[in-house]
Amino acid sequence: MHTAWYDLYANLAVVALLLSVWTHAQYWLENRTPILRNILFGALMGIGAVATMILSVELLPGVFIDLRTSILAVAALFGGPLSALVASAIAIAYRLFIGGDGAMAGAMSIALASALGLVLLALIRRRAIRHTDVLALALLVAGTTLASIKMLPKDSATLMWDNFALPAAVMIFVAVMLAGAAILHGRNAAHEQYLLRAALAQAPNFQYIKNAKSEFVAVNQGVATINGFATPDDMEGKTDFDLVPPDRAQALIVAEQEIMRTGVPITDNEEVLPGANGDQRWFTTTKVPLYNRDGGVIGLAGVTQDVTTRKQLETELRDSRNLLSYALTEMSDGLAMFDKSGVLIFSNDRYRSIFPSTSDMRVPGVHLRDILKAVIATGEQTNIPENAGDAWMEKILTNLGKDSVEEARLSDGSWLYIRTRPTPDGSAMVVVSDISEIKQAEQKLVDLNVELQQLATTDGLTNLLNRRAFDNAIDIELGRAARARTDFSVLMIDIDHFKPYNDTYGHPAGDECLRVVAQCLRSTLTRSTDIAARYGGEEFAVILPGIDEDQAYQSAEKIRQSLRALSIPHSGSKKNVITVSIGLATYPPSAIHRRASEILTRADEALYDAKAAGRDRVTGWQRRHDIQSPTGTS
Ligand code: GH3
Ligand code: MG
Ligand code: MG
Repeated sequence: MHTAWYDLYANLAVVALLLSVWTHAQYWLENRTPILRNILFGALMGIGAVATMILSVELLPGVFIDLRTSILAVAALFGGPLSALVASAIAIAYRLFIGGDGAMAGAMSIALASALGLVLLALIRRRAIRHTDVLALALLVAGTTLASIKMLPKDSATLMWDNFALPAAVMIFVAVMLAGAAILHGRNAAHEQYLLRAALAQAPNFQYIKNAKSEFVAVNQGVATINGFATPDDMEGKTDFDLVPPDRAQALIVAEQEIMRTGVPITDNEEVLPGANGDQRWFTTTKVPLYNRDGGVIGLAGVTQDVTTRKQLETELRDSRNLLSYALTEMSDGLAMFDKSGVLIFSNDRYRSIFPSTSDMRVPGVHLRDILKAVIATGEQTNIPENAGDAWMEKILTNLGKDSVEEARLSDGSWLYIRTRPTPDGSAMVVVSDISEIKQAEQKLVDLNVELQQLATTDGLTNLLNRRAFDNAIDIELGRAARARTDFSVLMIDIDHFKPYNDTYGHPAGDECLRVVAQCLRSTLTRSTDIAARYGGEEFAVILPGIDEDQAYQSAEKIRQSLRALSIPHSGSKKNVITVSIGLATYPPSAIHRRASEILTRADEALYDAKAAGRDRVTGWQRRHDIQSPTGTS
């Protein structure tokens, strides 16, 4: 009886051998078609089943037991219908070949075991086989064995059941579990290896393994392609001398030998090399030594990455940083940043130099309050309200948190425009511009405006009011006098025989004469309300507000005489000196309707009368009578 069980152990050994053969065959079969793989798997399992039948144990006369059902069920589960068909065909053929009473029943049990595997496979079709599936198959096959023992002829059945059923079922169960687990393990290992290969082949970078002589042992597709080979296999055994110029190859190999000798890897070594299109590209390389189990160096593994894009971004970033810092240094405005609490965290050179007295304070780490205290202490800023330094300081500190502008006049005479902008993170940016020139230009403009105003109202030759200004003035004064119901007189003054004067003495002398007459008017008319103007070429007009006809007459006479007293020689005149004729017109307080044009016309008419009456005299429009000057002989 003992020997019988030993034979059954031999059956188990067959199963183990089968699996070992299959595991080794798998790597060879990897590149074959699934059909061939399944046929070969089926054939191997069929042969295994035959081997177990040869080593089968005769428990009772004519009653054999072996592990064929385990093998066939496993073949069906893992190989599918094709493997099941091949395996069961071989097994059934052999069973029928040995013949005997149990031949048909034996063939049936073979078919049944295969069927069990296929049914289970059909149930789990959609997913990968798991260990629980193997367990289910083991239980099914063992259970079927027990059932078939029950179906033996009654005597044998009882004998078998009592003595052998349980150990046989256990043995069959164990065989299925062993075989299933082994195949699953092999499959997983193969799958892992596939993933590793796929990862290596499809990785975007360049990966390679070299042996101790720096020959390529394995490379991924990227390495093969960039070196001009169709497949990774084509590069096996090549060295860098086959790929790059000799001096570079020599340098690479020396470096690799150094890695393998010292065990010190090269990490992230950057190089500029020609890329696939011949353009310049950046690569980083890492090479690590590879050791065998005993710690001996057997080669190295390398990874090279194309980092051109990253490099370009880095370069761009660096360039723009340089540009920014250049801009900050060179900008004509001062720039400073203050943090939330008011501490200066950044300032450019300009910001410091623009404040001559406090530049050493305006550096990172100093609080704005201390800077402002220094501004007050040094008197740097002159437009701070007297005795209000603290209020001014508080205002600036508060303004740091909001959009604000301030104009500062410094003790050196410069003007600064200080803009403060809060930034989203709570700090503040301060930009300081020197606006001294703008301020100067502004002042010039104001001065120019005043000058223009004067030019527009003043006669350039005599500095009296011009005609335009006179017309404005007479309207204003006339209105005022009308409202106040006061006297209002106007004089019209014309130089006598001025044309011959010009002809005799020349135009510049004529101009000088006009200036003398103007000066004569100015010195004679001493009341601040009197207004004298150059009305035309050699004609002058005078407004005398609040002056009645008699007083006006006296004023006019004073003018006439003071000019005459100057005795400006005039050979073209009968009087031999420069004289003037004056016409005067007056609105008395009772005058209700007063118009500039009217009173001017009247004065002009009086002037005409004075000329007609012999010149060098004053004539009033109202009286139309001549007052002879003491020397006047026309
Ligand atoms: P009357 O006594 O009738 O006023 O004779 P008149 O020669 O003064 O009169 P008229 O109107 O014929 O001549 C005016 C002259 O005044 C003509 C012009 O040469 C001269 N004149 C006008 N404006 C200027 C000026 O700005 N400068 C000079 N030098 N002469 C002027
Ligand atoms: Mg005239
Ligand atoms: Mg004249």
